[in-house]
Amino acid sequence: MIKKNKTRKISQNDKDLICGTNVILYKSFQKQYTYKELLNFNNSTNKYYENFNSYLKEPTPKPCDNFYQYVNAYWNKHHKITLNTYNTFDKIQEKVYDEIFEIYKELVETSSTSKEIVNMKEFYDSANALMTPESSMININNYIDNIVELTNDPLKNNLWRILAMTCKNKIVSSSGSPLFFDIKPDEKNTNTYSIYFEPIKHLFPIDFFLDVNNRELNNSVSDYVNYLNTLIKTIFGDNNKLGLNGKDYIDVLREIALCFYETEGDTNDNTLTYYKLNTKATYTYTFNFVEFLKEIGFNTIPTTCITINLNYFKNITALMLKKWNTDKWRNYWILIYVEQVARFTNKWHTSGELLFSKFIRGSISEYADKVRAVKLMLIPFNNLLSRSYVAKYKNDYAINYIKFLINDLKIVLYKNIKKNKWMDAKTINYALLKIQNIKVIVGESSYVIDDPDINFINNDIWGNLIRIMDWKINELINLINKPVSLLPTVDWTQRPFVFIESQAFIVNARYNRSTNSIYVPLAFIQKPFIDLEESGIAYNISNMGYILAHELLHSLDITGSKYDLTGNLKDWWSNNDKKHYLKIQENIKEQYILASKKDKLEVNLTDISISENFADINSIYLCVEYLKDYQVKFEVPLKLAKLILEDFYIFYANNMKEKILNKRMSYRILYNPHALNQYRVNIPLSRLDTFNAMYDVKKGDGMYWNNKYPFF
Ligand SMILES: [Zn+2]
Repeated sequence: MIKKNKTRKISQNDKDLICGTNVILYKSFQKQYTYKELLNFNNSTNKYYENFNSYLKEPTPKPCDNFYQYVNAYWNKHHKITLNTYNTFDKIQEKVYDEIFEIYKELVETSSTSKEIVNMKEFYDSANALMTPESSMININNYIDNIVELTNDPLKNNLWRILAMTCKNKIVSSSGSPLFFDIKPDEKNTNTYSIYFEPIKHLFPIDFFLDVNNRELNNSVSDYVNYLNTLIKTIFGDNNKLGLNGKDYIDVLREIALCFYETEGDTNDNTLTYYKLNTKATYTYTFNFVEFLKEIGFNTIPTTCITINLNYFKNITALMLKKWNTDKWRNYWILIYVEQVARFTNKWHTSGELLFSKFIRGSISEYADKVRAVKLMLIPFNNLLSRSYVAKYKNDYAINYIKFLINDLKIVLYKNIKKNKWMDAKTINYALLKIQNIKVIVGESSYVIDDPDINFINNDIWGNLIRIMDWKINELINLINKPVSLLPTVDWTQRPFVFIESQAFIVNARYNRSTNSIYVPLAFIQKPFIDLEESGIAYNISNMGYILAHELLHSLDITGSKYDLTGNLKDWWSNNDKKHYLKIQENIKEQYILASKKDKLEVNLTDISISENFADINSIYLCVEYLKDYQVKFEVPLKLAKLILEDFYIFYANNMKEKILNKRMSYRILYNPHALNQYRVNIPLSRLDTFNAMYDVKKGDGMYWNNKYPFF
């Protein structure tokens, strides 16, 4: 891939950009003040000095004790928030959705007669208005009749029909279906599609329902029960004949959660991530694949499926067969549907938003209606809107800079791995090859597939979403064992929902382990993540540079290291390497455990979380190496060299400012795989020789860590 790029023909336009002949780097910022601001200039200057003086007077922790607080204590004290987090990503993301809304309006104005645009307007109107309670009630009553009929007739293998009904609707199956069904690239052969069975997905980490000793978690579960009961009351009033209630729902969730831990069956290996199931060997697993897959829509039944957790798969199958048509389970099947219909119904959705935004952001309303409608519109009109967005906002100069930056960071990582002392020579060579082969996609629209040709109805968002899901599942059924094409995929578990694949309009970068590629969407290439006008190298490396390095390192984290250079699940590590790598992971774990213990906080020790910590630790090291190379190359005076590193540390700590309400602390820690930002700053820095030397960190200081383990 690198080779290809090198021999690529360079157009005059590219050449101009690369050589900088038509680029103005620094712009006048004084001109950017408005007339009114200029008139008030004295006021704002006075305020600046006032703040600055008060800042100077306030005591801050020493940098060798708590660097995060050394930088952010003042902000922390004076920044009053009702939100959980201070999140620049979300703010810029909302701005991008506003921009896409403008594009939508332009399209409607300029091509009002095009069939596609008329259809898009129908969809937007439905997404903006949501369902009326009356029309949602019709959907719900039909669904209830269906479930009641199926559960009343135990002889008909109806469990598989109910499960298939649940699984076909991705919105419902993403929030509580006992099994999550998916058709996606086979991890051992990422060029073709396969059927996947995954454990339950739920907005709350499933362990929330089992940890009965944790008061904070118990309170969260009670909040959830109350929300469900309120919702049931709102929807059914006194007409709740089946006795739907929140407590039963939680009881069933607890039974399901135990399937992760019970050791029925012949395996108890929860670490398995890939296991092929033979659909013909029905009796081995007691799961009726034929019945289930027929209900999903398959005419011919594929011979294999994949599960990522065999133990769970066996346990949940046994549990469902035993309980599926009890009253509690019948009500559970109904409630997970009702809950999702409510999410798209006027007046009903607010109670859910109230609850979930409280956990996620601490704010009252997660998104304005307009933003939600724009996001929904990006599912069926993904191609059209992404292309239009890229066409309007493409910035070749910044895109090229990002490409160079990733390449530079790749080279530094390459050099670091080459110096590695603990990996076998063979493994080092393969790791180098993997790094070299990371595909870099910057600023382009990522989708090639055409938008679906579906007729939407302007007052039926629930129906419209089902039309999209049906279209998609049919597309996917036809793609089993065939080459992968790109279809937009949404994670409905999260609230607000998120797009899984990288998309041009997403404000974040992402490493994709199943294609060994890094994608930097156009929407992410803007201030404050990158500033090629007013800011210098320390600023840009602490922002964009750090994030790109972090993403690159995911290629070698606990999960990433299990995939080869083309993105297939494959073991390329020797036993000796694995032993060493495990020691490094244990060492990382230990530091996060100790730090959390000191602050009397919980700690997230899942593999995903350790991988994030691994990426943080190694990417900060990578950035510092990059800055060192820069200083040597450009002969930066040593006095200034120290300042550049200091700038970098301070900008980084400043970017990571975070404030969390105490009562939502456990949720933040257990739900978000990234460590608390205080640790994301202090722990990676504490492992740097340069940092320790600059701030004279000694044994006994808060930033001290006796680190014997090298970086990647
Ligand atoms: Zn990450």
